[in-house]
Amino acid sequence: MSGLYKFAVIGGSQAYDLLSRGAIQGKRLGERKTPFGPSQPIYLLAVDIPKEETEGAYKIPSPLPALSEAEGMREGRVGVNPPPPTQKMAGFQPTPSRQGRGIFKVEFFFLSRHGERGYEVSAPFVNYRANIYALKDMGVNKILAWSGPGAINPRYKVGQFVVVDDLIDETWNRESTFFEKGGLGFIRQNPVFCPSLRNLMVEVLKGQGLNFSDKGVYVCTQGPRLETPAEIKKFASYGGDLVGMTLVPEVFLARELEMCYAALCYVSNYAEGVVKSGVAPPPFKAGELFEGLSSQEDKVAVAQAVSQFPAIIQEIARRLHMESSDIVAGAVAPPGISKTPLTQSTDSIKCPCQSSMERYRREGRIGEDWRKWIKR
Ligand SMILES: [Zn+2]
Repeated sequence: MSGLYKFAVIGGSQAYDLLSRGAIQGKRLGERKTPFGPSQPIYLLAVDIPKEETEGAYKIPSPLPALSEAEGMREGRVGVNPPPPTQKMAGFQPTPSRQGRGIFKVEFFFLSRHGERGYEVSAPFVNYRANIYALKDMGVNKILAWSGPGAINPRYKVGQFVVVDDLIDETWNRESTFFEKGGLGFIRQNPVFCPSLRNLMVEVLKGQGLNFSDKGVYVCTQGPRLETPAEIKKFASYGGDLVGMTLVPEVFLARELEMCYAALCYVSNYAEGVVKSGVAPPPFKAGELFEGLSSQEDKVAVAQAVSQFPAIIQEIARRLHMESSDIVAGAVAPPGISKTPLTQSTDSIKCPCQSSMERYRREGRIGEDWRKWIKR
């Protein structure tokens, strides 16, 4: 498996809109079969990197092998359905005029958690285990997930990005571990989210001039219903800043399979009972999004935030690739690249994610093949 495939994005609410509008396009590889059932369909996206950014001290990877149905996607224990023949690479692909003139592609995976065409699967019924297993099985070791929670803490603005740093699990009855048998999974959860990937997100958001907060405690509720006013008061009383329904168990499952995972949230609305000072709570409006909890102004701010995702994930994929090239070459950035400093992001910050199971390995309870950790 090429190192270029190690990054994946799990799209949250409205990822399906970006897919159906063509704002996110790629080669549709299809669902991947896993011991937990099929994953959501996986797409292969690509981002262009001008060759000059990879020259000098950087190692230029050989061109990507064609990800053929025969080799790429059928390797390993489970397979992916072949992509429909009509769907071709587009979107993040280099334009024909630029191809062959010092541009190459960095590829990464994308899946839409709630479905491809709309909100087809609500949060409690997402097959989180299949999605995470499938990405791991395809060689992914870094996941950026996105989610559009409501704000409990009124200091956030609707449409603002939040690189959340902690989490409270209020879900119940979800399949929240790969290790149903065998006693594995007693893993520390601090930091909850990958600190190096979080740091990279912060740099990218800063670089793109976007309004964001680098802190936030995400309360994950069971759903699909929204929360009651008293529940929001309770979450606020114990330090919750945002309320959503999707990061659990995803984040914990990624940790069990030693993958880096960080979440980029955008604030969708103010949670029930949270009002800006001097503003009356929005009335119940039948037929509207969240029955009126989301105002017209909120919808505009949210659409604006969501429209930034293609550029954000593209830049993160690019930066991750540049860093991995840096490591391969064991070199420092050449002068021409100093405008996008590579320091201080993913690899210069200690990240515990990819050794979370080390204790079990040392005890001889698990081997290197992660598939065998899972008894099913
Ligand atoms: Zn990590």
